[in-house]
Amino acid sequence: MIICPECLRGMPLLNGTSCRRCATPTIYPVEECRRCRKARPAFDRCVALGLYQGTMRDALLEMKYRNGRRLVPLLGAMLAERLRRELSGEMPEAVTFVPMHRRRERERGFNQARLLAREIAGHLGLPCVGLLERTRPTRPQAGLSHEERGANVRGCMAVRRGARMPGALLLVDDILTTGATLSACSASLKNAGALEVVACVAARDIPSGWSVPSRE
Ligand SMILES: [Zn+2]
Repeated sequence: MIICPECLRGMPLLNGTSCRRCATPTIYPVEECRRCRKARPAFDRCVALGLYQGTMRDALLEMKYRNGRRLVPLLGAMLAERLRRELSGEMPEAVTFVPMHRRRERERGFNQARLLAREIAGHLGLPCVGLLERTRPTRPQAGLSHEERGANVRGCMAVRRGARMPGALLLVDDILTTGATLSACSASLKNAGALEVVACVAARDIPSGWSVPSRE
């Protein structure tokens, strides 16, 4: 299926109440949902455009596996608009992104998170900086359990040597599922001096077995 800009503009977005930290839809707005209280991710909050289903899922699969660079400008613009609204006076100092391992990025030819981050940074008038690198290749997170995902990415993200660390950062990826990858990145950024990390994703995927929305 080929996604046209009209499909993207018309897709349902996340507009209801959610967990401020992980963007899971909830019945009431909450600072932290039950899952975040139990295992707190290292990022401070998450802004997500939509759920990983329907048109959004098709668009992200196209962007990733069928070289859908043409979708990046529109998705980036939609995310920037959402961020302006949700962060209002608390804009971060810089935008960064979840890195791919060098070998995988060479194979794919691009890193979709980096493309989105650059687009968003352009709209917000912020610098886009590559702060992180993968120290080893990891298995794809899709198909792994919650625990396996955590173990798969643990210790695999390092801050690049000589990087100047801004205090407040926006960390961009395409999808958040359990949050293990974004949390591993945020932990490394904070260890290197970042004070606040806002995760920003096009889609919030809800792992199977999660009941959503739930009364917290
Ligand atoms: Zn949460």
